[in-house]
Amino acid sequence: MADDDCIFCKIVAGELPARKVDEDEHTIAFMDIAPWTRGHALVIPREHTRNLYEAPAETFEHVGVAAQRLALRMRDRLGCDGVNTLNSCEPAAWQTVFHYHLHVIPRYDDDPLQLPGKPQDPSDEELDAVTEELRG
Ligand code: AMP
Ligand code: ZN
Repeated sequence: MADDDCIFCKIVAGELPARKVDEDEHTIAFMDIAPWTRGHALVIPREHTRNLYEAPAETFEHVGVAAQRLALRMRDRLGCDGVNTLNSCEPAAWQTVFHYHLHVIPRYDDDPLQLPGKPQDPSDEELDAVTEELRG
């Protein structure tokens, strides 16, 4: 079900413009309006779903396959040296548009992007504790 307040649903419906680069039965890919590098695009499912927490399992296959297609096209047509995919889930993780999407970001040897995180140095005890909390 489309969400009336969702800008990406409006793009799917053709009610908002987007620079589409790819689409298939389940997904659309279009240029990010505020790109981090040349060619930065977003892949979204046509079906509205908020984020990683809520998306049905098949969404990840559909979006992942579309992202791979786009990454290969970026490599072959833009000549990028690598690609990052990025997904943000909830505001604490930088999500700003609440329709699941994968950023596909071409990387160039001389681009200005930097890793956003700084590696921490937890004790063995802390690593053991969090391992226990997460083990399925
Ligand atoms: P996130 O912050 O991970 O939720 O990603 C949302 C992305 O959507 C940001 O990188 C925005 O620049 C991008 N964005 C927002 N509105 C539009 C739009 N109308 N067309 C294309 N990209 C958009
Ligand atoms: Zn939506």
